[in-house]
Amino acid sequence: MIGTVVLLTVLAATAAQQPAAPGQLRPRPGEGQTPEWPPPSITDYKPKSTLVVPVHPRPKAKFPVIDIHSHHFQVPSPEQFDRIVAAMDANNLRVLVNLSGGSGERLRKYLEALRASRHHDRMVLFANVDFSGVGSGFGQKAAQQLEADIKAGALGLKIYKDLGLRIRKADGTRLKIDDSELDPIWATCGRLGVPVLIHTADPAPFFDPIDFTNERWLEMALHRSRRYQDPSIPRFEELIGERDRMFARHPKTVYIAAHMAYHANDLGRLGRLFDRLPNVYSEVGAILAELGRQPRTARAFFEKYQDRLLFGKDSFQPDEYPYYWRVFETGDEYFDYYRDYHAFWKLYGLELPDPVLRKLYSGNALKLVKGLPRTGLTN
Ligand SMILES: [Zn+2]
Repeated sequence: MIGTVVLLTVLAATAAQQPAAPGQLRPRPGEGQTPEWPPPSITDYKPKSTLVVPVHPRPKAKFPVIDIHSHHFQVPSPEQFDRIVAAMDANNLRVLVNLSGGSGERLRKYLEALRASRHHDRMVLFANVDFSGVGSGFGQKAAQQLEADIKAGALGLKIYKDLGLRIRKADGTRLKIDDSELDPIWATCGRLGVPVLIHTADPAPFFDPIDFTNERWLEMALHRSRRYQDPSIPRFEELIGERDRMFARHPKTVYIAAHMAYHANDLGRLGRLFDRLPNVYSEVGAILAELGRQPRTARAFFEKYQDRLLFGKDSFQPDEYPYYWRVFETGDEYFDYYRDYHAFWKLYGLELPDPVLRKLYSGNALKLVKGLPRTGLTN
């Protein structure tokens, strides 16, 4: 017993003297030695896994899916729409919620084109608000336009991340997400019973220093527009604070916080947000790698909050959807993700139970978005 204590003390002392890599207890053999060959860069090093375990690819979702977060800025031509629908069928996607409907004339033309299409039950539109020139009276006018857009056939409102990050008011100051000038917009959505899907901020590491401990180093190195180090841009917590205050101020308005509210790397925090604000929901677009690295925590979360989570993908890339199906449906281990700058790690399946999958894939969307086509949906 005494021997153990002495040994532990010695080890602790050794560890304290040597700065070690995360998880490293003591200097590894050869520490400080230069590798015999130049080490590869992080983009070059692609070790092939030698792990042999069962694999269950999922080219097609187990149940029909509504994608609550899709973008198709231009009206697809009939041929393009045929191709989109063929890719949807292959994935078992029933409906795309196209969040890029715009407003006014543009929206009306898009809606007309959809109605005239033979695929009219495969895509619906959310409207957008044009936030240029916000000053006194803006909110009322924007709310009126939005009401007209909803009457014309838009099923909800999508707010882009520019709100909070970049948009300025007419007086030059930053338009805060919880600016009271915008209240009529949120109140109108509540009164009309249409949801607001809002993208706020971006992954927290985008706001952190770009050093070699930043998980999104490669992504920021590749994409200038994702670097938020400039002091003119508000901090992550500031934006989240504004968003959450707005959520709280409009309890009758249903909000879908895009991309798991950018708390997919801290599901406890998202759970507390859900507990505090029953009008808040979320969707899973573009954060799959976060879920896939914590399959047990994520599964428990999806079970507990099964009524609050919707399926969304964001960019429409038919060959990427099967990664979602595999993560949600299987218990597969240690498999590749499709985007190395989101994740240099591997994914694990959550193996969600069927009732949870059904809610995620379509049940919750059908509950929140009135007027969604139901053809081919079993819920
Ligand atoms: Zn989006």
